[in-house]
Amino acid sequence: MQVKFLGATETVTGSKHLLITEKGRQILLDCGLYQGMGSRTPELNERIGLNPPEIDAIILSHAHIDHSGNLPFLVRQGFRGKIYCTPATAEVAEILLQDSAHIQESDIRFLNKLRQKEGLELLKPHYTAKNAEDTIDLFHPVDYHTSFAINDEISFMFTDAGHILGSAAVNIIAKENGKTTRLAFSGDIGRYTDMLLKDPERFPQADYIICESTYGDRLHEKTESAEQHFLDVVKKTCLEKKGKLIIPAFSLGRTQEIVFVLDKLKNAGLLPDIKVFVDSPLSVSATDITRKYVYSLNDSLQEYIKKDPDPFGFQGLVYIQKKEDSMRLNEYKQPCIIISASGMMEAGRVKHHIAHNISDPRNTILAVGYCSPNSLGGKILRGDKQVRIFGQELEVRAEVESIASYSAHGDYEEMLRFLDCQDKSLVKKVFLVHGETDTKEVWRTTLLDAGFGEVVIPHKGEVIAL
Ligand SMILES: [Zn+2]
Repeated sequence: MQVKFLGATETVTGSKHLLITEKGRQILLDCGLYQGMGSRTPELNERIGLNPPEIDAIILSHAHIDHSGNLPFLVRQGFRGKIYCTPATAEVAEILLQDSAHIQESDIRFLNKLRQKEGLELLKPHYTAKNAEDTIDLFHPVDYHTSFAINDEISFMFTDAGHILGSAAVNIIAKENGKTTRLAFSGDIGRYTDMLLKDPERFPQADYIICESTYGDRLHEKTESAEQHFLDVVKKTCLEKKGKLIIPAFSLGRTQEIVFVLDKLKNAGLLPDIKVFVDSPLSVSATDITRKYVYSLNDSLQEYIKKDPDPFGFQGLVYIQKKEDSMRLNEYKQPCIIISASGMMEAGRVKHHIAHNISDPRNTILAVGYCSPNSLGGKILRGDKQVRIFGQELEVRAEVESIASYSAHGDYEEMLRFLDCQDKSLVKKVFLVHGETDTKEVWRTTLLDAGFGEVVIPHKGEVIAL
């Protein structure tokens, strides 16, 4: 078997690794969109380095767009095989891909209006809502811990990666000409302190591991202090300054985690008497799916729901779907918390809330996840005094806070713990993907120090025989 590294090599987005068997079959691990790569982004997402009709099957580690978001483009280009993923991933990917298609279509509509005026040729979206629908039809859910044979050469089993609802590490067994090769693909590795998800799980011994590297050079703040920090920010903003607390949060995962923290604070009588708005149709759908899979969440949550059956609902919490209701929040004069997507503040309703509130010193913008340096969130976090939103230069007078420990990615200690189930002497090579170049160098040294014999940083397009 050979593996060809096609994405997330020099960066953290565009996850895509192609397995080519002895019989010439092609199995693709993930098919993510590149995001936030500036003017190179469209080309990176169109020149994918493979011929979609030739791919036999796709195995999807989890629903995040940087892992699933280019699937509809593959379908548009003629891919008709099955897409294997866990049942929760299938449901989450459905809403995320529909949303992604909607963004692609509306971005192009906006661009085409300008191009039409200038007499330029009109552009087509990268993919459409129809392509996303056709993609969803190809999903084939496979439960965790179930060995599944794709063909006579390749079988796989999902184990829980603890990163988002439904996320999995993919454990592949290839049987070719009497030789067995065991390859583990980590997907994205979660935390051992997640408030909702189970810990990343032990996975079967592998000969080769494709491992993520996002926080390969960093340690996170501990969660206990993060919860206190969060309450301090709420009190300072909403009680002392009578302002609004704007929390840009990814729809799935972070939003439910923040709502759950607020639910706990409410039950403990610690939350000030203010309204909390979750303003995003996608976040509402993602919360509904999380409620459906609540049995798959961790033990402490199972204990919690014995006392409070709805960990994502409390008095004063309002979920907003309609655009009119969202716009009405601009006129809401009371102190409140607004949780809205997207996490990097680049798109979605949160951008409107930031535009509306960023120049008032009573307010706070609280980042609770990773923001790439070029995103609006990145600029606000690094302390820019002015930002451009919807063509307007706005002064940043609101307070800016961040709580990094709500990240869904494990830090390097957590990733080492995840890998600790392996007999390192049996692992022939570890391939590092999904990380910035400098981070991967540090992570590589850490893994070598931990006892792994060979750690490789593959380049984009590199083919390595296993
Ligand atoms: Zn992810």
